[in-house]
Amino acid sequence: MTISLIDLKKQYQEYQKEIDSAVQGVVSAASFIMGPEVAQLEQVLATHVGCRHAVACASGTDALLMALKAYGITAGDEIITTPFTFISTAEVISLLGAKPVFVDIDTNTYNINPSLIAQAITSRTKGIIAVDLFGQCADYDAIMAIARARGLFVIEDGAQSFGASYQGRPACSLADIGCTSFFPAKPLGCFGDGGMIFCSSDEKAAYLRSLRTHGSGKTKYEHDLIGMNSRLDTIQAAVLLVKFRHFGKEIEERERVAAEYFHLLKDICVSPVLASGNRSTYAQYCIRVKDRARLQEYLKSKGIPTAIYYPKALHLQPAFKGLGYKPGDFLISEQVSADILGLPMHPFLCTADIEFISSTVREFYRQ
Ligand SMILES: *Cc1c(COP(=O)(O)O)cnc(C)c1O
Repeated sequence: MTISLIDLKKQYQEYQKEIDSAVQGVVSAASFIMGPEVAQLEQVLATHVGCRHAVACASGTDALLMALKAYGITAGDEIITTPFTFISTAEVISLLGAKPVFVDIDTNTYNINPSLIAQAITSRTKGIIAVDLFGQCADYDAIMAIARARGLFVIEDGAQSFGASYQGRPACSLADIGCTSFFPAKPLGCFGDGGMIFCSSDEKAAYLRSLRTHGSGKTKYEHDLIGMNSRLDTIQAAVLLVKFRHFGKEIEERERVAAEYFHLLKDICVSPVLASGNRSTYAQYCIRVKDRARLQEYLKSKGIPTAIYYPKALHLQPAFKGLGYKPGDFLISEQVSADILGLPMHPFLCTADIEFISSTVREFYRQ
């Protein structure tokens, strides 16, 4: 019995016939760039999310970068975000010459703490990037209220939360622009890199479509603006259309896995806490534990892979040294990064495996 952190091989076996035929279709038609599957996927996912527009692009990182560009973010601007996230969220801000301004997270959800945002706003602040960490949406009612009162835009980094919901509303529709990623390990992953931007503004959507293909204008080789090459491959769109047909069921299975873990582990670690009104994708199932390094070694010795999301908060990363933050600036983020541990999580994880993983964790603490 081998246990994977995320079992992509099993998933492929489950849908192999449909996926192979979809990929073969693209290869036979040789419609590799912007083939019909790309627009189809955009339409299907826009409908699912409830936004007027979905713009496919090359990665979740590009989605965030393009969303910031759609607001004209440039040197001197400040963008508020969380230090407890994957590097992309803040990296794109710096890449545009703007400054990430970090705000600590909520102890329970690990998402940006809305009550700390107001004090981080300056005359240079243009917007907020909220992250739906581990698949649970941030508190958008509170975040949007502050943003509206202060004239800021909000981008939802839904790289981990596509398929989740907040107060009954779908992830990626909760802010001015929603971004997601189809990196293979995400809940809805493709066979390489991919991403999508969701918005309801016609003007922003038109800009994003132009931006992703070299700033193209109405006719080929006419360029209205300085753009990028950030398209989603047709093959990836075809794979995603197949996987999306099974996605609702997969989210339910992820919820089942999370419920089983919770039941078996709640008394010996800090389990994930869902804020009321939230439905998570459980992109990761992360617990907070004592003696993490030794537990991780012990689990590994029993054939159980684990991962740490994320071992170092962004304000302490060498890449952000120039921002001048120091240890102690964001205590909750630092504490959580010191004891968080991700357990195997995917829709095909069977009850026997969950029981084995959980009893091995319990065994470690009995020693
Ligand atoms: C994965 C991820 C991204 C980046 O997505 P890529 O497709 O890998 O570029 C951005 N933000 C968060 C929170 C992520 O988990």
